[in-house]
Order: sequence, then structure tokens, then C-alpha cells
Amino acid sequence: MIIKNGWIVVDYIRNYRDGAVVIEDDKIVDVGPTEDVLRRHSGSGHDVIDARDKIVIPGLVNSHTHISMTLLRGYADDLPLQEWLEKWIWPFEANLTGEDIELGALLGALESIRFGTTTVYSMYHYHPGHNEASGLIKAGLRGVIGIAIFHWSRDKNIKMFWDAMGRWHGRDGLIKVSLGPHAPYTVDPETWMRLPEILNEANEKYGDRGRVIISSHIAEDWRENELIRDKFNVDIPGGSIFRYLEKFNILSGDFLAAHCIHLNQVDLDLIHKYSVGVAHNPVANLKLGMGFADTPKMLEKGIRVSLGTDGPASNNTLDMFETMKFAALINKPIKRDPSVTPANIVFRMATEYGALNLGYNDLGILKPGYKADVVILDRRKPHLTPVYDIYSHLVYAARSMDVETVIINGRIVYDGGFVNTSLDDVISRVENRVYELLEKVGKGD
Ligand SMILES: [Zn+2]
Repeated sequence: MIIKNGWIVVDYIRNYRDGAVVIEDDKIVDVGPTEDVLRRHSGSGHDVIDARDKIVIPGLVNSHTHISMTLLRGYADDLPLQEWLEKWIWPFEANLTGEDIELGALLGALESIRFGTTTVYSMYHYHPGHNEASGLIKAGLRGVIGIAIFHWSRDKNIKMFWDAMGRWHGRDGLIKVSLGPHAPYTVDPETWMRLPEILNEANEKYGDRGRVIISSHIAEDWRENELIRDKFNVDIPGGSIFRYLEKFNILSGDFLAAHCIHLNQVDLDLIHKYSVGVAHNPVANLKLGMGFADTPKMLEKGIRVSLGTDGPASNNTLDMFETMKFAALINKPIKRDPSVTPANIVFRMATEYGALNLGYNDLGILKPGYKADVVILDRRKPHLTPVYDIYSHLVYAARSMDVETVIINGRIVYDGGFVNTSLDDVISRVENRVYELLEKVGKGD
């Protein structure tokens, strides 16, 4: 397939105003000015997409969500975090079957694709046959599924992790499985201690099908350290959660820490030292009143900060264009400096850094040899005219609904309609099932 005559955004610096991308199987094989690319591939018999007046970008990477929580979108809003979790979210989730989780993931996958996201990291409960992975595959979305681990269900969760690795890791070239210890206040020290060995073993056994990572919620709530001390009777040295985690030998470039809001200097130094990735979720953090990460400081230190929406119950969308804009704006007033988190760096966070944080070194850039995850937007719109700086448009002006075509792993999955599944059918199934679930938790009418 050749996409020609488009404004090709290779990465956060390089772009061609009239460029072309060539895709063969699941890979990008050539990128450059249209004229040069066509000359190199003349008579090759590729299908051609004319992208005149379009912007062609690497697919966006949503590096932190709980995608099946589309089923709980708008179910409970504007409540304090612990009350929201304990009184509303967890009781509802207790009724979800594997089929429900698959259906929620399928709905979230369609939403993600519609909005130009081609890869998600999603941590949730796992059932062997039907789960997030099976939902993502039905839509054709790339995803890393995190098998949630809590200390009260540790043995069962770890068993499920191995089941998921065997069944789903590498499946259809789209899915990876990862370890998802929920948070330091829901995972006890004995469990943390066991995780490095499990991660190593998983990479030894299954790493050839894709790097296995570990991801957890870290420093989302300002009361977290206190909560950990009270629950597990442990010391958080110098009030540094990363100093605490360091002693379990779990910090590395394969560790992705979501949120990282309430940190001190020692924490930042350790994140940098161990090359830990950070997933910044500005919209959900604002909605839950948690505060937000000091991303300018992290980026300045060379920390890989990627972007996430967090779950659709705490956002309430999976819209990465909206997230890019929030990420660009959120720290400017605090720093009293509009030059922090400029548009092209935010674009890098939503693409290249997202891919790296999920353990892909061949994703997030339109480069030969990289995976063919490509999104095409229409720029023939009032709000995208004129164009001076393409990154400014992508972060500040473009809307997710400007997305016209989505290609994942070399296959078109959206081109004005979903290729792999019927949206109407998914919406009807979700509406019927949610009605039944509300009856179960005593909130039906
Ligand atoms: Zn989360």
C-alpha cells in the first residue's frame, strides 16, 4: 500500500509537506517526498491512497487505561477517589463476566480507533477465554493487557498472568501481556518481592514474541504513602515511594509508572536512574482532583513521559487528541511559563514515548522497519486552516473526529466505517447488558 501526496509527520521533528509512506505486510518499508518514493516504487502494483489535503501521522499510543470500563462511563462521577472505588466501581465490577470485559474492551477499541489511537495499555481483570485481549483483537486494535495483581488475590492473579502469557502474548501480532500490580497500597511487600523473578522468567520464555513490561499506579493520591505505612506496617524511606520500590529490585526500563503526581526529588532521581517510564493522565487526574505530574521537570531530566487517558469511568473518553491538548496546557499556569511542554514534544509523548514505554522499539514513528500503524486526518477543515506548524495543529486545533482512516499492523481497520465489526451491534449489546448489570447492583429502575 502506498499513501501519497499527504503531509507526512514522521516523528516529533521530521515531516514532509508532500510525502508518501509505503507499507508492505505489517511494516513500513519507505517514507519520503512523494516524488522520490513513487520513483523508487514505480510499477510495484501497490494499492494507492491519495492523501492530498490530509495529515498522515503515526497512530497515537494510549499508555494507560482500563479499557473495559467503557461499561461504567458516566456511571458515577464527581466523587472522592476511595468512595468512588469502594461504593460504586468495585461493586459493579464484581458482577462482570469475561464476556462483559470483552464487550467493554471491544467498545473501547472502536472508540480508540475512531479517535486515531492504534495502541493501548490496559490493566484489568482477566478471564482466560474472553477478556480485554479478545475484545481488542475483534476490533483490530494493538494492545498491551496488564493482568491486575492485588495482594489479597495474588496467587490466583499470578496464575492468570501465566495463562494469559501462554494464550495471548504475541497473538495476531497485536497483543502483548504484562504484569499489572495495581498499586503499592493494594500490593504488599511480599508480592512485590516475587515480581522481578516472574518478569524475568516471562521475558526469557516469551520475550521473542514481544518485550514483557510491568506497570502500576504510583503516587496518584497524596495520601498514598500513609496508606501503605498503615496497611503493611512498613517504612517509606524519606517519603520516597521509588526508594521503597527500589528495594524490591523491580525498577528498570521495563517498569511503567502511571500518574507519578506526588513525588519528591529522590523519586525523580530514581526514575531517571532506572530509566523508568511515566504515563501522565492529565484529564483523569483533574477529574478526580488528584493534582498532576510535573512533566516539564521530568522531560527536562530526560525521563520518558507518555500519555494516557486512564479508564473511561474517570475521564470519560479515550480521546488522545483531547489528552494531548490537556498535557500541553496543564503545567503552563503552574510554571507561569507558556514555553513548557511545547506541541511537538507533546506529540512525541503521545507516539514515540508511548511506544517505548510499552516495550516496543519499532513503533510510534513512520520509519522503515517500524510497524505500520498509521492514521490519516482530513485537514480541509475551517479549524485546520491555514497551517503554519503541523505539531501546533495536531495538539491544539485538531479534533479526534478529524480522523478519516486508521491502519494497524498494515491493515485498514477504519475508513469511515469499522472494517472488522458492526458498531450498531456493539452498541445494542452494551446497552442491553448494562441494563442487566444495573439490576444486579440494585441500581436499575
Ligand atoms: Zn488507572
